[in-house]
Amino acid sequence: MSTGPFRVAIVGSGPSGFYTADALFKADPSINVHMFDRLPTPYGLIRGGVAPDHQKMKSLGDYYERIAIKNKDKFRFIGNVKVGQDISIAELKDFYHAIVLCYGAEGDKKMGILNEDLDGSFSAREFVGWYNGHPDYAHYKFNFSTRVACIIGHGNVALDIARILAKTPEELKKSDIPQYAFEQLSESHISEIQLIGRRGPVQSSFTSIELEELGKLKDCDIVVRYKDLDLDEISQQELEASPKAKKNMEAFEALSRKRIIGCSKRIEFRFFQAPYRLNGKNNHVAEVALNHFSLSGKPFSQEVKCTTNMHCIPCGLVFRSIGYKGEPIDDGMPFDKERGIIPNQSGRVINKEKETVPKLYTAGWIKRGATGVLGTNKPDAKETVDCLLQDLATLPSLQTPDPNTLDTALFNLLQTRGVISVSFDDWLTLNQIEIKAGKAVGKPREKLTSVQDMLAALNKNPITSKKGD
Ligand code: NAP
Repeated sequence: MSTGPFRVAIVGSGPSGFYTADALFKADPSINVHMFDRLPTPYGLIRGGVAPDHQKMKSLGDYYERIAIKNKDKFRFIGNVKVGQDISIAELKDFYHAIVLCYGAEGDKKMGILNEDLDGSFSAREFVGWYNGHPDYAHYKFNFSTRVACIIGHGNVALDIARILAKTPEELKKSDIPQYAFEQLSESHISEIQLIGRRGPVQSSFTSIELEELGKLKDCDIVVRYKDLDLDEISQQELEASPKAKKNMEAFEALSRKRIIGCSKRIEFRFFQAPYRLNGKNNHVAEVALNHFSLSGKPFSQEVKCTTNMHCIPCGLVFRSIGYKGEPIDDGMPFDKERGIIPNQSGRVINKEKETVPKLYTAGWIKRGATGVLGTNKPDAKETVDCLLQDLATLPSLQTPDPNTLDTALFNLLQTRGVISVSFDDWLTLNQIEIKAGKAVGKPREKLTSVQDMLAALNKNPITSKKGD
């Protein structure tokens, strides 16, 4: 029997999706890759997660674009298609030899405290999505008339949020922050940003470059108290064994030495504290009630222990930045709800009995959890692709080897469901539209922030498409 090209569907077009495609093309140039995304725009966290003032990091999108263009004969972006809703994973199996799930962590960890979800208390995802013009969050409203904002969690996302809240309009102007967010943040009354973490400076999840960046803010004092940098013996041992912690500690020390000069805004680090409750007024957050914690145990496995109920910080805005958590997208897939990941062995999806599920693979945050920097996804994707390539000969064949027949059947199926898919060329058109709009106002781009606007810009308005066909 003749065999057509080996066909792989990648679900998710963020960093892990593109590193998976790249590894596949490098290993076997004859492989065809179709990359699905629920949005009409590719690049996942690069577009919707990386802070708008981190343009260098966002430029990784150019690298992914080159992967797509270099392999254009065998790469297809199928945007605006929600796998699990518009088409199931079981259905995808009819069109592809293998499916790699790379759709990231779309949920949030919960603190599990009283009043966690009061009005005015938001997950980091919601605010990050808003200031990045993500269509799911562009319509959100935040109370910037309050004086104090509290951010819970000591990770890099918390730093991104603090920095964006603290920047002057002049600083924000250089970014690709959407106009609505720029205007609202420019008029913000927030002058105090509390960064609250339950462990100490040595155990924080920050990275030093991001900490150092705070020291360069134009009109913001940074408060790091000397006493918080006074380490106990166990933390001292952890510091000595961890180059990352050492660098962070140097950054904290430099910040603590900076003079407080009465800037318009202030970011204050609070260590060994975490909320036990949010207090509300008229159902809106009014205070964060904090406990004090201490650490006990062996180096690198210290546990947090509540010591006292401390005090309340009056505030009108809370951001819960305690980490992202993956969610299932399809009823028919194995999922570890506790860990928020797809259970897998080196990227091969496994079921409850720990048997590998034919044709299903995973990479990125949905494979390992929401950890690591963008580059971590490269070796992670390579590990998955290596497994997939080892399995190649054993994967079930498709009903027909002819790729054109399969593609026609796939797009017919989507069309009968009223799904309007977006190609990579469509994305390149949107990209040009955004860059042009940005140029007019001196920004890298002015984003389209609703799916409707994106489709309209492509003349793919649902009504006209249906009529035209
Ligand atoms: P993260 O690095 O995992 O940090 C989460 C923070 O939340 C930790 O301080 C954690 O403290 C705390 N936390 C967790 N559960 C808590 C609870 N119940 N109560 C109080 N605090 C709690 O997560 P992230 O900041 O969302 O970042 C996700 C990943 O993206 C990270 O790998 C990060 O480095 C990466 N990222 C990188 C950049 C960059 O490179 N510029 C920017 C953004 C994000 P414990 O340690 O005590 O659990």
